[in-house]
Amino acid sequence: MNTSLQAKEQGLVIESGGISILNRALNIKEIEMRKFKLPELPYANDALSGLISPETFEYHLGKHHKAYVDKMNSILESDSSYGDQPTLEELVQKTEGGLYNQAGQSWNHTFYWHSMSPSPTEAPGDLKAAIDKSFGSMKDFKTQFVEKAMGNFGSGWTWLVKNSKNELEIVNTSNAENPLRQGKTPLLVTDVWEHAYYIDHRNARKAYLDKFVDHVNWSFVGENFAGSGAPNMTKFMV
Ligand code: FE
Repeated sequence: MNTSLQAKEQGLVIESGGISILNRALNIKEIEMRKFKLPELPYANDALSGLISPETFEYHLGKHHKAYVDKMNSILESDSSYGDQPTLEELVQKTEGGLYNQAGQSWNHTFYWHSMSPSPTEAPGDLKAAIDKSFGSMKDFKTQFVEKAMGNFGSGWTWLVKNSKNELEIVNTSNAENPLRQGKTPLLVTDVWEHAYYIDHRNARKAYLDKFVDHVNWSFVGENFAGSGAPNMTKFMV
C-alpha cells in the first residue's frame, strides 16, 4: 500500500474542502469555549457603607475576586478535560488542586455578594421556623454565627448550611473550601479572610461580623433554603 493511501485510511489526510470545514469547526469551538466573567454587584458599591466601603469593593471584588476568575479561566483554557461548558457548580464539586481553589473562590465570593442586602429583609416563614428550631431564635442565630466566625482560625468562610437531613448548621471552612463538597447546601456565607474587612474595620473581625449579620439578604437565604442542590452562581458569571 502506498504511503498516501495508508495516510488516507488512518484519517491523516484531509481533502481541501475538508480543511475549510475543519477550520470552521475549530473557530466554532473557540467561540463556544466558556469564559467566566466577574459578576456585577447586586447593589451599588456605596450601598453597604459602614459594613463594606466602596474602597473595599474596589479591592475585594475588583482585584481579589477578579484574580480568582482570571486564573480559573486561564486554567480552563489550557486544559479542556472539563469540557467546553462546565458550570461553576460542577467545577467546585468535581475538581482538585489549583482549579478547585480558583473555582471555589470564584463561587464563594459571588455567593457572598448576594448574601448581603442594603435594605432590611425578612426570612420567609419556613426558614424562620427552621432557624428557631436549630438555634432558638433569630437573635440567637446571629450570636452563634458571629461566635463561629470569630473561631474560624486564619483565612476562610463561615456558612449557614442545610445538611442532608434538611437541618440547619453553622459551619466553618478554610481557604477556598465549599460545603457542597460535604453534601451540604450553602444558604448564607460571610468571608472572614482579612481582605474582607481590613480596610474598613482593621483587625476588628467582630465589628465587621456584628454589622454583617444585620445586612443579611434573607430573601436570598430563603430561596436557597427552598431550593434543592447547589445554588446557581454560574448564571451571574457567564
Ligand atoms: Fe474574599
